Amino acid sequence: APVHTKGYAVFSKEGKFVPYEFDRHAVGDNDVLIDILYAGICHSDLHHAWEDWRQETYPMVPGHEIVGRVAQAGSKVTKFKVGDYAGVGCLVNSCGECASCKKGEEQYCNNRVLTYASEDIYHGNEITKGGYSNNIVVSDRFAVKVPQSARLERVAPLLCAGITTYSPLKLTHVKKGDKVAVAGFGGLGHMAVQYAVALGAEVTVFDIMESKRHDALDMGVARYVNVNNPDEMKGLENTFRVVLSTIPAKYDPAMYLKMTAIDGDMVVLGLPSRANMSNVELSTLVWSARRKIYGSQIGGIRETQEMIDYSVANDIYPRVEVIPIQKLDEAYQKVSAGEVKYRYVIDIATLSE
Ligand code: NDP
Ligand code: ZN
Repeated sequence: APVHTKGYAVFSKEGKFVPYEFDRHAVGDNDVLIDILYAGICHSDLHHAWEDWRQETYPMVPGHEIVGRVAQAGSKVTKFKVGDYAGVGCLVNSCGECASCKKGEEQYCNNRVLTYASEDIYHGNEITKGGYSNNIVVSDRFAVKVPQSARLERVAPLLCAGITTYSPLKLTHVKKGDKVAVAGFGGLGHMAVQYAVALGAEVTVFDIMESKRHDALDMGVARYVNVNNPDEMKGLENTFRVVLSTIPAKYDPAMYLKMTAIDGDMVVLGLPSRANMSNVELSTLVWSARRKIYGSQIGGIRETQEMIDYSVANDIYPRVEVIPIQKLDEAYQKVSAGEVKYRYVIDIATLSE
């Protein structure tokens, strides 16, 4: 039987969040039903809800940083038992057969299904609905195990902000002594910093806010650069072996490419809105020659599990502000204005208030 769900949805791009009830597909043999405890607010949720990137379908229930407790497990599920903690990130399905799926990189499957606002071809083309709700039904392949010892209210953001920054640091084999730059010190950025510092890198943060300098230094960065202060920007050309850009707004990518070391990597993670799109001119690629620039999306499920285990074992968590679900609109305004330190997490128990 379909599973009844209570959540919060937005009904148009200018809309406010309102309580919304809907049904999810029934728990299949390989599925788990998870009672959601906490859901993080990713800047991507704003981009989706506000139609920054593309035309969307409403009502929309965002949320792809989900942690909860398994309430029911399908007959073929061995990975989880009722009562286990589980996490769900940006993906809820993929074909399981293509080269990307076989490599454990389900995020690059042509037939992947995102956790919300995505057409689920494996369930009659229903539009997926995310974690701002009291439960979710998902294939056990797309749920990760969350250790009992994890700090639950801080785990949720790992499922997107954590894996999105962990994955490129692993891909580029960041190691002790490497110079790493993190552009944008927000939800993703402050996770990137913690992983890079843990790997022994010498980390430099670039942001536009003076108020975040203290926190960045507190997390062990070697240098904090306020990009609006020209003096701090001097002498950084050809410096960083890896640059991770998490900036969600308009900026000059060429500035960062220039600071990337020759043969280094500039990995683009931030996804500005269409209206604020930044471009790289071909000539820039030649003037800043032999630096690689490429994008990266979240991470596969195997790596997401690895990241959760690594984070819990090393006590690496986001800094969060836990909010009641009734405060979603206010929270969105604050994320947009850069006023959150550093991730809002919705306490889903407040749904019933
Ligand atoms: P946040 O809003 O939490 O963080 C963004 C940070 O960038 C803020 O600290 C912001 O500063 C800072 N910033 C804004 N403009 C500049 C600038 N010109 N130079 C330097 N820093 C700047 O967002 P998230 O971390 O949640 O998400 C970041 C982006 O990543 C979004 O576009 C999101 O959609 C995308 N994303 C991509 C994923 C992927 O798989 N590739 C996965 C998840 C998210 P201030 O606080 O002052 O505004
Ligand atoms: Zn996200």
